[in-house]
Amino acid sequence: MAAIIIHGGCYDIVPGKEIQKLSLKGIRTYGERGFKMLKEGACALDTAEAVLHLLEDDPLYDAGTGSFKTLNGEVEMDALIMDSESRCGGVIGIQHVQYPSHVARLVMEKTPHNLLSGPGAEQFAFSQGVPWFKVVPNDDGFGSESPGNIKRMLGDIHYYNEYRKQDSSFSTVGVAALDNRGYLVAATSTGGIRRKMPGRVGDSALPGAGTYCTKELALSATGEGEGITRICLTARIAMEYEQNKNLTEVLKKNIQRGSAIDCICGVIALTKEGEYSYAFNGAFMAVYHNKT
Ligand code: ASP
Repeated sequence: MAAIIIHGGCYDIVPGKEIQKLSLKGIRTYGERGFKMLKEGACALDTAEAVLHLLEDDPLYDAGTGSFKTLNGEVEMDALIMDSESRCGGVIGIQHVQYPSHVARLVMEKTPHNLLSGPGAEQFAFSQGVPWFKVVPNDDGFGSESPGNIKRMLGDIHYYNEYRKQDSSFSTVGVAALDNRGYLVAATSTGGIRRKMPGRVGDSALPGAGTYCTKELALSATGEGEGITRICLTARIAMEYEQNKNLTEVLKKNIQRGSAIDCICGVIALTKEGEYSYAFNGAFMAVYHNKT
């Protein structure tokens, strides 16, 4: 049995028809690529990483190329990979690599750590032969903020909240894959939220928040990372799934926990039996799934 499920982010309001079409098309195309790899015997880790690379290269999604900018107009990307053998690796706030998911995998395989952040993550990546890369950010039509405005936003939470209110659509990407050896992988990659404060850490690279994998279940979330982190969305789902094997019910219940704190969120899940499900409280989330 091999299976895959992938998502392209949870939008709070229905995006324009063109964006919907492109998002669904990309998710289907890259998901099918991953499914083909699994059918041909690839391992879940190689598959999840390959699918994330495709998504990280596609400017439509908020990961790698196309990542949202910080208030400073820079890109700070987060990614995490976790597997059913209890291994985990991730990067936070990495800026100059093409594939944050690849560095996440290197952290998992070649360091004794779970997470590396900022310049340390880059230093490690370059020492492993990862090339320096100028990431082209999302062309969201917002020019650079003036230093005066940035200062005001960093100092005045109300002003900053008003400014950020203009948008809360999410296009982070995530994959859950199961190969025919029964090995599960969950992986998420993101540029974070639009116009985030420099240094802001979201949920995607935090184990148990935006990404989680146990022997039984692989999960990747999307949405407002602050809320997802506060409710430990994916860890909670994994724990509740141990007691209640109705996967869809567990997902829905936990997405409601997000709704209860006004958190737009979505999650995909894949079990070691190849059962998949997803749930979201936003208006749109592109998902692809398939199994042998
Ligand atoms: N969860 C991501 C974050 O808060 C955003 C997203 O899902 O697009 O960084």
